[in-house]
Amino acid sequence: MHEISLVRNILKTLEAEFEKDELEKLSRIDLKVGLLSNVEPILIQNAFEAVIQDEQRFQNAELYVNLVPIIIKCEICGDESEVKNYTFKCRNGHPTKNILQGEELTIERVHFID
Ligand SMILES: [Zn+2]
Repeated sequence: MHEISLVRNILKTLEAEFEKDELEKLSRIDLKVGLLSNVEPILIQNAFEAVIQDEQRFQNAELYVNLVPIIIKCEICGDESEVKNYTFKCRNGHPTKNILQGEELTIERVHFID
């Protein structure tokens, strides 16, 4: 289950970024997940619940997944559009693989308890 390793990487990133006492006040992690990233929100949330059971300093944290659509930019006509039903064509019908958004898996924002 690759979600477990994704969650571990996210926690590692946060540990590198913040001090221990800051992490204990972490209340929420917002993830930005592209539709092409192969991450199922429910699976990564379940993985998060499982991983933080052994991670005392993340006990107060919740994980939110913000799914973002796939956006392509046509190299022929410059049209930027959202990909629906995995059809990689611009609105003028040109096939394109130039993906502007949709492959990301990033920490968008973190929230702390005051
Ligand atoms: Zn086009």
